[in-house]
Amino acid sequence: GEAPRDDDTHYFLSYEYNDIHAVMIQDKVRTSSYASFILTNPILFRDAIVLDVGCGTGVLSLFAAKSGAKHVYAVDASGIAEKAEKIVRENGLQDVVTVIRGKVEEIRLPDGVDHVDIIISEWMGYALLYESMLDSVLLARDRFLRPNGGVMAPSQCRMMLALCEGNEIVKDRVEFWDDIYGFDLSEMAQSIYEDAILDVVSPESVVSEPYLLKDLHLQTTTSRQLEFTSPFSLTSTSPMRTKIHALVLYFDTFFTTTGAHLSPDVPVRIIKDGDVTLAEVWPIAGKPPPKRRASLSPGLKEREEKRVISFSTGPTSQPTHWMQTLFLLKDPILAEEGTVVSGTFYCKKSDFNSRELEVEIHYSVRKSADAAASEVIVQMYK
Ligand code: SAH
Repeated sequence: GEAPRDDDTHYFLSYEYNDIHAVMIQDKVRTSSYASFILTNPILFRDAIVLDVGCGTGVLSLFAAKSGAKHVYAVDASGIAEKAEKIVRENGLQDVVTVIRGKVEEIRLPDGVDHVDIIISEWMGYALLYESMLDSVLLARDRFLRPNGGVMAPSQCRMMLALCEGNEIVKDRVEFWDDIYGFDLSEMAQSIYEDAILDVVSPESVVSEPYLLKDLHLQTTTSRQLEFTSPFSLTSTSPMRTKIHALVLYFDTFFTTTGAHLSPDVPVRIIKDGDVTLAEVWPIAGKPPPKRRASLSPGLKEREEKRVISFSTGPTSQPTHWMQTLFLLKDPILAEEGTVVSGTFYCKKSDFNSRELEVEIHYSVRKSADAAASEVIVQMYK
């Protein structure tokens, strides 16, 4: 018969090499956001049992140990786990951090450890959901997180979509092929309209407010919600006539100390604090936070969570290794101020490899909010 499909071997092998870990750790926006969340919340981490899902080098586990965790279980299925174990020992933290090599779906915690208080994980992929690691984190949450008052870090991720002129991308990735030492290689550019492109675009190239495509609350999200359909509506803010060549997708990440989430109605003001970005939310969001751990000190209970650590991978923020994801449009949209691009965004796992995504965008264009819509255009991307 047919060999069973294996989306894991290659995936975990890719994390064995040093380079990928260097890239992630050198991404200052990423690593310093985790560091400051963990290190500035000793009230939360003190004496907590922590699970680090996909520990890689173990860097987040070391932060948690430093912040006073009682014990940290650092899990990784990749060969990198062996280095993590040595790193833990070399830093003298072997009594606090236990490295477990295995898939978090399959490992067992030691007898007597039924639940953990906090799950830390850096699972975010390109376009947020590429790699599908979040499924594993949600499974870990359901298996191991304390049912009342357990905290997910990060606690929330938002997928955002905006209109993008994309001139740089068109020049670099499409027009570039038109004249190669005097030859026309434009055939090479044809598939670009079927591939999601990873690149960093300038803040000026974004010509709409972002639209919140998907708001993931890590405390409650289920795997089923990771394949989704979302309507969207984007209004051009460019005062001049512009050609819109692309839609740009990126994500924002938030760390609340209670696991509570920000509601979409609450304005978020971004403030910089050195390398770290804080989102100031007032009043703090949405539903009351889940019941806190009874043993938590009153300090945390009383503290109003007005400022939460957050970071954005969007074009107006400092670039990260995630860059932005661009969907080039075959027919650029000729837009003026007020032109509306609206439609539906479909996102699902690839039938061929569950770690890849397939995106389908259906959209139409109106000259203004009450004008007639153009025919619907459909584009598909991998
Ligand atoms: N926490 C580290 C590494 C993040 S990269 C850091 O912040 O630098 C994600 C890691 O998760 C990779 O090392 C990968 O091997 C691991 N991983 C992904 N899915 C996993 C799973 N289901 N079980 C165990 N480890 C997993």
